[in-house]
Amino acid sequence: MRIGIDLDDVLTESLPAYLEAFTRCFGIRVPLEEAAWDLPKRFPEIPIQEWEGFFTDLEEGGFLDRRPLLPGAKAAMEALQQVGHRLYIVTGRLPRQEEVTRRWLKGHSLLSCFEGIFHKDGEFVTEHKKKAITALGLQVFVEDEPHVARALAELPLKVLLFDKPWNQGSLPSSVRRIHSWPEALEAINGLDRCSPPPTGYR
Ligand SMILES: [Mg+2]
Repeated sequence: MRIGIDLDDVLTESLPAYLEAFTRCFGIRVPLEEAAWDLPKRFPEIPIQEWEGFFTDLEEGGFLDRRPLLPGAKAAMEALQQVGHRLYIVTGRLPRQEEVTRRWLKGHSLLSCFEGIFHKDGEFVTEHKKKAITALGLQVFVEDEPHVARALAELPLKVLLFDKPWNQGSLPSSVRRIHSWPEALEAINGLDRCSPPPTGYR
């Protein structure tokens, strides 16, 4: 099958550390249940220059380079690749972060597991992921952000949502909540037995 994989909080642990950095910088605590990347939208009272300083510090401090691999992620990518699934990373990260993404994947000996790595380029993350799913003919997508999972549920594919404090609540029927990579593998194996290969994709 053709499988799309989100990067942050699917292969890495990222959002909790982002919130911790935000608290250290601005003294504002955001609970994990309300975690999201779009904090500048949520706190418009913080001047743009301060946001710029925050993001520059993260970048220069190697925030993305230091993200830890989530348990079971590497073994799962290798297992999926070994049985012939085709894997694509589709991330909401920006084009200028592509180099660090590749460096991180290479550092964890994961780069060769993926047939493509797609970063967002100006559009909303939901549009970026929907476009990539359609263009690549993806049949499964592994995600953690609830608004993304709901948007992807409009497409003819199965979404696996990694259970996180920030994505609790009910889900559309085509979205399945999973708690670990072994559980994701089991779900993918189950889908593989009952889904025909897509037509028109090599
Ligand atoms: Mg994510």
